[in-house]
Parts: sequence; C-alpha cells; structure tokens
Amino acid sequence: MEKMNSSWQKFIEFITFINLPIRKKFLLFEMGTFFWFLMVGLLSVASLSFIHYRYSQIEQSTLPYMKFTYTLSPELSSLEHSIIDAKEHHNDAKTLYMTKVSLDGIKSTISDVLVKIQNNPTHGNIFETVIQSLSKDDSESFNLFQEILKEINLMDGMVLEAQKKAVLNASASEQALLWQQLGVHVSHTQEMAQSLSKRVELQYQSYSIQVGDTIRLSINSLAIIIVMALTLLMFFTRWLREAFSKPIESMIHQIHSIGTGEVDLSKKLKIKSKDEIGTLSKEFNKLVDTVYGVTVFKKVIEEDNSLEVVYTRLGEVFEREAGISNYRIFDVNAAKSTMNVVYPHVFDEKEFMACNEEILHDCTLCRAQKTGHKVSSFEFDGVCKEFMNDAGKKHVCIPLIVAGHAGAVVQFVFNKTHNAEEIERVNEQIFKAESYIKNSLSVIETKRLMNTLRESSLVDGLTGLYNRRFLQDHSNQIIASTLRRKKQISLLMCDMDYFKQVNDKFGHDVGDSVLKDTSHILKKCVRDADIVIRFGGEEFLILLIDSEVGNGMAVAEKIRLAVEEYNFKTNEGVLKKTISMGISDFPNDADGFWQVIKFADVALYKAKENGRNRCVQFSNDLWDQKANF
Ligand code: GH3
Ligand code: MG
Ligand code: MG
Repeated sequence: MEKMNSSWQKFIEFITFINLPIRKKFLLFEMGTFFWFLMVGLLSVASLSFIHYRYSQIEQSTLPYMKFTYTLSPELSSLEHSIIDAKEHHNDAKTLYMTKVSLDGIKSTISDVLVKIQNNPTHGNIFETVIQSLSKDDSESFNLFQEILKEINLMDGMVLEAQKKAVLNASASEQALLWQQLGVHVSHTQEMAQSLSKRVELQYQSYSIQVGDTIRLSINSLAIIIVMALTLLMFFTRWLREAFSKPIESMIHQIHSIGTGEVDLSKKLKIKSKDEIGTLSKEFNKLVDTVYGVTVFKKVIEEDNSLEVVYTRLGEVFEREAGISNYRIFDVNAAKSTMNVVYPHVFDEKEFMACNEEILHDCTLCRAQKTGHKVSSFEFDGVCKEFMNDAGKKHVCIPLIVAGHAGAVVQFVFNKTHNAEEIERVNEQIFKAESYIKNSLSVIETKRLMNTLRESSLVDGLTGLYNRRFLQDHSNQIIASTLRRKKQISLLMCDMDYFKQVNDKFGHDVGDSVLKDTSHILKKCVRDADIVIRFGGEEFLILLIDSEVGNGMAVAEKIRLAVEEYNFKTNEGVLKKTISMGISDFPNDADGFWQVIKFADVALYKAKENGRNRCVQFSNDLWDQKANF
C-alpha cells in the first residue's frame, strides 16, 4: 500500500513537473503555450484550406454546369415546341428559322456561361473553348456535357441542312423525317441535360454538406482546444500560486514575526517541491529554527542563576544545535591575566587543552583574547602559535567581548577538511554556534557584572579579603559541606595588638598599610582552600577548612610568629607588630557555628588578657569564666 502511494506520488510529481527547476518549468510553459497555439493554427489552416478547396470545386466544376443546365432546359423546351409546331404546320421556312434562333440561343447561353467562367469573351469554336475551359474533375458530368454539346452541334448541322433543303424545295416526307430526327435529338439532349442537372445538384449538395460539416467540426475542435488550453492555464496559474505565492506569503509572515520578536513555529513552510522554491523554503525553515532556538535560548539563560550555568548551556547548544563536539569555553580573569576552562567540566584542564597550557597562566598569549577578534586557522594556517596543530587539525577561536574586552573565549577544533562540501558544513556549524554566542553576550555581560558586584560586596576593599557579609552569606553552605564530609573547621580569631598606637603614631595610612601587609601574611600562612575574613577593623577570622583538633593552634602559632618577625614599613623606618589569636573548633566545641565563633572571640580575649602576642585554644572553662565575669 505504502509502495503504491509512493509510486502514485512519484507519478503526480512527474506529471506536475514539481521537482523541475523554475527556469525549466517556464520553458515547459512556453512550449505548452506554443503547442496549443500551433494546434489552433494548424486546425484553422487545415479546415479553411479544405473549405477553400471545396468552394473552388463548387465554383469551377459545379456552378458552371448548374448555370448551364438551368438555362439550357427552358431553351430546349422552347426548341421542342418549335419542332412540334413545325411538325403540325409544315411551316418550313418560318419553323426552320425559329429552330435556328433557338439553337443560336442555346449556343449563346453556352457562350455566356463560358464568359462567366473565363471572365473574357470567347473567340473561335464555342464548343471547343467551353470543353477546354470546363473542369474535368468530375468525368461523368464532363462526358454528359460533352455529349450534350455534340447533340447541339449535330442539331445545328441538321437545321442548316434543312434550311438548304427548304431553299431547294425538298419533299414533305423528307422534311417530316428531318423534324422527327430533330425531335429525337432534342428529347435525348433534354434527358441528358436533366441527368446532368440532377448530378450536379447532388454534387453541390454533397459539397455543401461537407463544407458545413467541416465548419462545425472546426468550431467544435477549436472550442475543445481552447477549453483545454484555458483549463490547463487555470490549473497552471493555480499551481503557480501554490508553488510560489504561498511560500513567499508565509515567508513574509515569518519575517514579520521575527521582526517583532515572536517566531511562529506552527507556520513552518511546507516543502512541496525540490526546485528552487523548495530549497528556499527548506533553508528558510532552518533559519527560523535557528532564530527560534536562539530566541528561546536567550530567554532561558536570562533566567539562569549563574554564569557557570550559562556556559554549560552554551556548550550544550554547540553540541546539540551546531553539531560541534570538540570545543572549549575559557573564562578570562582580566585582573589576574589568567584564563581557565569552564566548560566542558574536566578533571585535568591541562590534559584537555588543544593549545599551549601557558595561555592558562597568561591569557594575553591567547590571540583571540588579546586581539578581541575571531581567530581562524581555516582563513590563515598557523595563525595562532599557541595552538598545537596535531594531525592537521583546524581551530576557530571566538572572543566573547563583554565590557570592552574578551571576557571569555570559545575555541572550536575541527578535523582537517578535504573538500568544499566539508568546508561549507564547518562554516554552517560555526555560523550557528556564533549566532548563539552573539545572543548570549549581553546575558554573559550582565551575569559577569552581577558576579563582580556580588563579589565586591563580599570583599573588603582595603585588603581584598572576604568581609563579614561573605561569612553571613556562605556560612550555611560551608557548615553543610563540612558536616556532610564529617570534617572540622578550626576558627582563628585574630586581633592586632595595640593597633591604635600605629594610627596615633604614624597616621591612618600607615595603619592601612600594616593591615594590608598583615592580610598577606595571613593568606600566606594558610592553604588556598582556607578562608581568611576581615572580620572587623583590625580583626581577622580564619576558617581552616577540613582541619583537625589541635591543628588550629599550630597554624595560629605559625601566623603569630610570621607577624612577629615581619618588618612593617613606615615613613620612619621599620615597625614591629604582634598579633593575638583565639582558637576554637567547629563542631567540636559546639553545634552552632556562630557560637563557635563566639568561643574563638572568648579565647582571643583570654590571649589579650594573658599579655597579647599569644594564641589561646578555647576550652569550656573560658566560657564559664566569662559567664562568671
Ligand atoms: P588591643 O591590643 O587591645 O587590641 O589594642 P588596640 O589598640 O588594637 O585596640 P582595639 O583592637 O580596640 O583597636 C582597634 C583600632 O583599630 C581602632 C581603630 O583606630 C583601628 N582601626 C580599625 N579599623 C581601621 C582601619 O581600617 N584602618 C586603620 N588605619 N585603623 C583602623
Ligand atoms: Mg580590635
Ligand atoms: Mg587590637
């Protein structure tokens, strides 16, 4: 059944020429029009030629005979009367004269007919001229006519003979015989004239019917041809409307929708043909799909929470929509002049690199990041020195320009292309990926700005350390993660000793610089994973992540010594400072995180109390003492 359907469809496609290119369709249309005009022309010429032929036949071979017989019959009748008269009255001379007049009348009739045929007067022997002039198409009519002429000629001779005999006074019996013979000839001629007349009339009738039939047939055929041609024309114009105007109308509608930002996927163009319109519709649908995909994508990422999610979605559309599997998305840290792979998520980004890994530490080595332009080795082989060109692979690197500089770089890596088709496919993939990148730029810019704003509100402006707000925002997350991993956090509450004096002696600026230097010392003394917070004016809180009981004290001592040994620079030379610390452990000391912070503060108080420049580990008795105090 399905097979039948498809062959039926193929048949329909074949007879409607739907898959032929447009120029061939128009050529067929021209040929079709020419064919129908040719048909009408040929039919008209054929029928008119036939009508003309029949009319000339009627004119040349029927009408002269008819005219001749119509005029001859009364003449022959009057001749017959003259002869009867002559027989009855034996009025020889007069009768002969009358007979001769009748015969001359007949001859002049023949001459008249001839004049009408030839359009000029005749000379010489009338009968011969007539015989030569008349059409011999119908041999029977011609023979009859010839016989009639012979008879008339014969009768003419007989009358001349009789006239001569009358002069010589021929006997009455001789004259009677002559009249009798003449009578026989006249009636014979009369019979022949009648049969000629009948025959010619019949012929005239038959020719007239043929002409009539031909005219009717021509009119009918012409009507049929014109109706068929008009039907085909109607069908063709309707089909043209279907094939050309409908897709174009839909395209206009879609373009309007795209212009207003609403893509109507339900109004996709129906692809009915494999001609240029079919290809155009297919490409247009693809474009609408892309625009729709990009529009939806933009809406989705606008509502995403973090930049990381946006990068992840971008990577997913590179794979799903553009069909690119080998790619990397780098996020650029302009402040540190570094870049790192943010998607796909990889365990070891150095392993995953298609470029010299140095670019991760110095992003200015990345040509796309540095220039802010698309860098493609398809356009210029070996354009970027940092790309590791193994097995002739090609790369296209696109910077994501946000806030005037490349905030991120997307790198696509392709296998070597071998032909124009492959190059076109790659270009299509890049075009599609680029349309997603371009549409995500504003969102990425906003998200980066939000990140920066958020980070700046969580970071202390003087030291670059996290502030107390950061701890408020992230404490739940830190606690949950520690408890989940069944680990501990050591809390080091630090306070500079006699810091007021610095301000008083050297001024606020020196005080600030001492705070900055101290923050560097604190950072240096702990691991990257640990969190150093500027908790208050010259108070710092350090969270030693995944610490063990006792470890806090060791790190605190390390810090205390480092500060003690450090030479703070002032305008009046080197300044020595010390720091005091209180240490507590979460969740060892208490279940409440903020409670444990309080414990560290209590321990710090104890350190100050005990003479400063020292570290005190919290113990419950300190809390009791505080309570008593
Ligand atoms: P103690 O040993 O008891 O801690 O003595 P102290 O002088 O350090 O006393 P306290 O901790 O109470 O003093 C805090 C001083 O730190 C008060 C203020 O002048 C100074 N300070 C706080 N924030 C800043 C800052 O941002 N810059 C500067 N230069 N000084 C600050
Ligand atoms: Mg203080
Ligand atoms: Mg202090």
